[in-house]
Amino acid sequence: MILVENLSKVYPDGTKALRNITFSIARGEFVGLMGPSGSGKSTLLHLIAGLEKPTGGEVFVNGKRLTSMDEDELAEFRKSNMGFVFQFYYLLEDFSVLENLTIVGELAGQKDPKKKALEILEFLRLSHRINHKPYQLSGGEQQRTAIGRALMLNPKVILADEPTGNLDLEEGRRIFELFLRLREERGITFLIATHNQEMKRYFDRVLRLRDGSLEN
Ligand code: ADP
Repeated sequence: MILVENLSKVYPDGTKALRNITFSIARGEFVGLMGPSGSGKSTLLHLIAGLEKPTGGEVFVNGKRLTSMDEDELAEFRKSNMGFVFQFYYLLEDFSVLENLTIVGELAGQKDPKKKALEILEFLRLSHRINHKPYQLSGGEQQRTAIGRALMLNPKVILADEPTGNLDLEEGRRIFELFLRLREERGITFLIATHNQEMKRYFDRVLRLRDGSLEN
């Protein structure tokens, strides 16, 4: 589902963020991305998402070569293949939980975004919160709303950058258990960057970055 070949990234200031990274992730795998702060985790996720261009190497997602797409093709590809979950939830603060999801479906021209949003919110056990605004929710509920937003477009891959970074252990575990349920029930492939050693046990395997290189 994800294939990264000889990937490198040098930022304009000369920082070598990634050095010749090669790995692949099969469909439905649940993979951790770990390593100290500054080791290149976010950079790697951004390159796989096509949000930044590599200095060298290739990225393939679902059999498509991202590194040869232009911006429009990338945007279209992201919408139909990839979901993103971040440490900060980036919800629309003036809109309800339900609206935060339906807007995504409306922008994508879906026929009945409300029906889809309600189904997803039920799956996320947020049915009792649909009319709440983000500030009225716990951190875990806000993160589940952000995951719901990602699910509106039926992603095949979810890339997550420190998704439990702002949550306590119990809330963090619930998020990981939810991710695992999405893998089991929908076959979604996950690559999750985390500092949190507690979460290591959930992964099928862990990719370790140090100073821009893969250990193992
Ligand atoms: P992590 O997510 O593991 O903390 P990052 O991918 O954010 O690591 O950063 C890897 C390295 O690249 C660090 O040395 C960081 O300072 C540097 N870096 C990240 N983004 C930029 C940028 N836009 N410009 C220059 N250097 C950057």
